[in-house]
Amino acid sequence: MSRMRFMNTEIDNLTMAEALQSIDQMIQHDCGAYVVTPNVDHIVQLEKNVELQKAYAQAALILTDGKPLIWISKFYKRPIKEKISGSDLFPELCDLAAKKGYSMFFLGAAEGVAAIAAKNLQKRYKDLQVCGTYSPPFGFEKDPKEVNKIKTMIRNAKPDILIVALGAPKQEIFMYTHCRELGVPVSLGLGASLDFAAGNIKRAPRWMADHGLEWLFRITQDPKRMAKRYLVDDRKILGLMFKYRKQR
Ligand code: UDP
Repeated sequence: MSRMRFMNTEIDNLTMAEALQSIDQMIQHDCGAYVVTPNVDHIVQLEKNVELQKAYAQAALILTDGKPLIWISKFYKRPIKEKISGSDLFPELCDLAAKKGYSMFFLGAAEGVAAIAAKNLQKRYKDLQVCGTYSPPFGFEKDPKEVNKIKTMIRNAKPDILIVALGAPKQEIFMYTHCRELGVPVSLGLGASLDFAAGNIKRAPRWMADHGLEWLFRITQDPKRMAKRYLVDDRKILGLMFKYRKQR
């Protein structure tokens, strides 16, 4: 079994190849599964956010996003095999979908961004079928009419894979609340992946991501929002690292 306890969540200790294989199987089994990709920010939010905890508890696959969590797992002497960032998984998934004929629906990001992401990805993965894109207005989750509109859109498009890029905890709570009724075999909460694919936000250079410096790069891109997240909120990860050290 790949599942193990890690800090305040379970995680699936898989390589990228194993994760893709597992997602492929979920598509074949078609039972409304969803995937979450915990990073430092999610772990900090999980400490207090009960809705996010519920969403995590029902996730079919929990993949570790970001070097700092890999370092913590080594510090605990129970190493996680590989960092699987949502934004690395996303292109791999597009490649798999193009090869196997799975259709995708992109939900999230600012107006128009999901459609640009689709266009760019279809240039890169020639046979990729994107059966729908929608970037909902800010605060949509509080408007039942808008939520119903989104659900109808997704049901009619009948994707095999739904990408939910609404940031944490919105995307995880959306999947937890609605996935079962959407009739989509597998959904994934992938944060800023549509922004990256659209070229809207630049990704950190590979060497920075590999050395756990993605946060530093993202602060330079969007100082106001990211400085609070990474320098204020996420500092709590240090205390949590010691809090969960003794756990078996
Ligand atoms: N977003 C959205 N609707 C919302 C809130 C956020 O579509 O109500 C989008 C936002 O435009 C961005 C993504 O959600 O594309 C979240 O990005 P974030 O930087 O939080 O993702 P992460 O750092 O987790 O990858």
